[in-house]
Amino acid sequence: MISRPESLAIVDGGGGVGAGGVPETGGVPDTGGDVDCVIVALIALMSMCVLFLTGGKFFPVWMQVIDRTCATCQYGGHFVGILIPSMDHRELLGDAIKEECGVVGVFTPGEEVASTAFFGLFALQHRGQESAGIAVSDGEKVRMHKDMGLVNQIFTPEILASLKGDMAVGHNRYSTTGSSVLRNAQPIYCQSLVGEIAVAHNGNLINAVELREQMQAEGEHFDSTSDSEVLARIIVNNLKSGPAEAVREVMRRCKGAFSVVVLTPNMLIGFRDPYGIRPLSVGKLGESGYMLASESCAFGPVGATCDTDLKPGEIALITRDGMTIEQGIESPREAMCLFEFIYFARPDSRMFGTGLYGARLRMGERLAQEHPVEADIVVPVPDSGIPAALGYAKQSGIPFREGMTKSRYIHRTFIQPDQRMREIGVRMKLTPLDDHIRGKRIILVDDSIVRGTTTKQLVKMMFESGALEVHVRITAPPIVYPCFYGIDMASKGELAAARMTIPELAVYIGCTSLGYLSVEGAQMAVDGATEGFCTACFTGKYPLEIPDGLKKHAFDDPPAVGEMATVTSGQAQLFDQ
Ligand code: SF4
Repeated sequence: MISRPESLAIVDGGGGVGAGGVPETGGVPDTGGDVDCVIVALIALMSMCVLFLTGGKFFPVWMQVIDRTCATCQYGGHFVGILIPSMDHRELLGDAIKEECGVVGVFTPGEEVASTAFFGLFALQHRGQESAGIAVSDGEKVRMHKDMGLVNQIFTPEILASLKGDMAVGHNRYSTTGSSVLRNAQPIYCQSLVGEIAVAHNGNLINAVELREQMQAEGEHFDSTSDSEVLARIIVNNLKSGPAEAVREVMRRCKGAFSVVVLTPNMLIGFRDPYGIRPLSVGKLGESGYMLASESCAFGPVGATCDTDLKPGEIALITRDGMTIEQGIESPREAMCLFEFIYFARPDSRMFGTGLYGARLRMGERLAQEHPVEADIVVPVPDSGIPAALGYAKQSGIPFREGMTKSRYIHRTFIQPDQRMREIGVRMKLTPLDDHIRGKRIILVDDSIVRGTTTKQLVKMMFESGALEVHVRITAPPIVYPCFYGIDMASKGELAAARMTIPELAVYIGCTSLGYLSVEGAQMAVDGATEGFCTACFTGKYPLEIPDGLKKHAFDDPPAVGEMATVTSGQAQLFDQ
């Protein structure tokens, strides 16, 4: 049963991851370096023992020890791999955009739900790989387990079996505010007037420091350094007024992005911030069960069906009597993260009725309209560039061809001591299909350029494989400003499009031409409207004013956007599009 009180103002939603253990010296002179290699190998071996014995708890410390040992090696470091979480090719060059948390909530009356929460979190692993946790209520007691690492590393069958109850919340974390340590892992557990509660938060509060100082002055004690604990303590302190009112108080006091799931002994709560920056979907599970998740891709594997998406400022209250959805506070405007549609969310997720795979296809079509070019084949950067490349090929009539294969067995490089080794790492992750590329003019389609290092490497790879021309087409507009709402991309000074004009960037990455999809084009490809999105990292128009302390130098003049550069003999020429 889902009921929305008709009398309440519901805001229109507007549609709106090795070479594990394989040492490679890569041309390092064979003179004396063996001693360093032996030292590194011994430390790596010790590290693996420590990792095994401690369950990975001291992993960051050992990373630093080995990193420093390699950095002091007279041969510039050696490539040592270890089997740890698979990483995207962008991460190899420190050029990744990282989503910063995924949340799930599950209620299935009378059934154990820890495994359901586990599979939901597993489906949302792309939204956070630093830590994970699940809290479960049996109606009286809340039991919780959380740790550093990936979902399937943390939760053994024995641990899941110990989490008894039919109501649960879960969380995958990539840190935003607060360092990546266990005490900042979620869910956050608190004692309250109604008993134990657990809170899981996706997003980032931009006024967390101010709120924390206020609350500390009032005698509040914090166990972590995360912004999410600020939010959790506001809920706890206001539960005497009822769960919905406690959430309203969060909406009134907290500024920024927050999609949250809360577990009390007898209630599951889900809510989104009044701007609706981060997503939160609602699913039906069996006859009388419910599921909340950051993305609908978490529903399918556990047999849930997507029912709706919470709109900005909405609160879902789930009890043994069913679910009600009510408006928390009035939404000033909807500002859903446009980048969720371009890159962050999984392509098999749906948000507000829009399938993300289809949206990315349409982005490719629009990209072909905005930045046409004569070429022989359209080549995607796998995997995220595939739907857009298919769309570009369909619209342009230029054949789609895979131009590189992505290894599913290359894992995070344990040590990346220098640029050359990082580039080798990318080549091991993405291998060019020379026979498809040689002698061809190619259109290389990717979803975004952050620092530009990855794109530069891929373009170089295409030319070395015999491409005659490499026309880079990007389905995100130029990223010019940092995100303060829960996405870790880079500081403004590191963003390639903030440091260079598009012609300069085309020269930097070494392509024949470079074209970005416009902000309007990306929005229209999602749902045919240009309203209801946060586009701040592209436009600098932040839906909530960013405090000066957070801003730093984020608001310098943006470079020109909506233009395409073609490079001739190393000189960029600007084409108005
Ligand atoms: S600034 Fe960019 S990444 Fe951040 S919420 Fe807005 S659109 Fe999304």
